[in-house]
Amino acid sequence: MLRDVAEHGADRASPSSAAIDWAVEGDACVRLLRDLLRIPTVNPPGNERPAAELVAEFLRAHRLEPRVVESDPTRASVIARYAGNGRLPPLLLTGHLDVVEADPTTWTRPPFSADIADGCIWGRGAVDMKNMVSMSACVMGLLARIKPKLDRDVIFAAVADEETGSSKGAHYLVDEHPDLVRAEYALGEIGGFSLYLMGRVFYPIQVAEKGQVWLTATFSGEAGHGSMPRADSAVIKAAEAIVRLGHNRLPFHPTDVVRRFLHELAKGLPQPARFVLPRLGTPALAGLLLDRVLPDPATRRTFASYLSNTASPTVVRAGSKTNVIPSTASFEIDGRTLPGQSEQDFLREIRRQIGDEAVFQVLASQPPVVAPVDTPMFRCLADAIRRNDPRGVPIPAMIPGFTDAKAYHKLGTKYYGFSPVRFEADDGISFAALYHGKDERIPEAGLRWGLRTLYDAVIAFAQSK
Ligand SMILES: [Zn+2]
Repeated sequence: MLRDVAEHGADRASPSSAAIDWAVEGDACVRLLRDLLRIPTVNPPGNERPAAELVAEFLRAHRLEPRVVESDPTRASVIARYAGNGRLPPLLLTGHLDVVEADPTTWTRPPFSADIADGCIWGRGAVDMKNMVSMSACVMGLLARIKPKLDRDVIFAAVADEETGSSKGAHYLVDEHPDLVRAEYALGEIGGFSLYLMGRVFYPIQVAEKGQVWLTATFSGEAGHGSMPRADSAVIKAAEAIVRLGHNRLPFHPTDVVRRFLHELAKGLPQPARFVLPRLGTPALAGLLLDRVLPDPATRRTFASYLSNTASPTVVRAGSKTNVIPSTASFEIDGRTLPGQSEQDFLREIRRQIGDEAVFQVLASQPPVVAPVDTPMFRCLADAIRRNDPRGVPIPAMIPGFTDAKAYHKLGTKYYGFSPVRFEADDGISFAALYHGKDERIPEAGLRWGLRTLYDAVIAFAQSK
């Protein structure tokens, strides 16, 4: 047993995966995850401190020296480091401790129970992403016990506040304590899960995420009495603009990362998908293929989000009295930009759709983030997937949302969404539906698989050659 080796101060044990008792390590990971799931870190308000302390305690038990850093009272993150020889820059394993809300009346089981049922561990945060926090902490524990010689430090950061934009978590650490988390590569959400398509199993690894441009568009018009309707009122102008955004796509922009994703996905699929998918990367064909060939609206929406900047009207504000035509009407737009597209590019496209009259106010803006695919890190991730699921096809992917990658990117870190978890084809669980959805849960076997896969990737990448 490795634990005996460590306790008796014997020579280093072999860091190879085969020498590790994965049943025992998996038990520890399941325990840690369940303990974390029982701490409701719903953000807002977050209150991640107890979760950070729990993880710090786990790391201390493995003789690591974690540091708990508070950005605000109760908003804590925990960081630890396993030292390599420093020949190469560090690798960061990261996850967030906060979760989104969960309405217990819609759940089959209480969202903070951490029940084990139907082969799954249930709870808000089971896949987003206390699983990655638990697996990463266990990998750190393994390193501390086995003491492999590494060319790189491996840093662990479990952070506050991802779900409301990371300002009290990853952005805070990057801005205020950059040396604690500075790394050449980082592994976090979203990727490394099994995705079943037409009988094949893919493992998307996030190499890119879209940018964010959130703005308000305000229209003005003559105020008046509701008894005398006018077609040029602020409300009508805003409504027409909303309809235009809803019924028209923004222009297609083929990007390298999306083309590669479509190509690699297509290679693994039968016809007609094998023929159709790569052609989505051709702007002249994309609209036709999306509308005529992709039958399922959810699939169409997903692929459409890979090919254009997008704009969703969300919050609408106008008027306060039924009989008064207001002089202004405004709505908020949740805009997402493709790699290679700037805030200005996006605003130009919106302007073209909704006209010159709208006054824009940008509420929040972050650029897209891309990591290269042809790196030793990506190869190690893909190898770890293939070794642990020989049927699995790893593919580089872009997500339309955003993660803590935005923060680490400011330090030049190449960030990959890789929080491995295996689902079975007959689980009846869709990873996408679990994310922020009801009945969030993770297959226990899939978590254990993820721990080993993550360890394999880390050791293959960081070990002295
Ligand atoms: Zn998340």
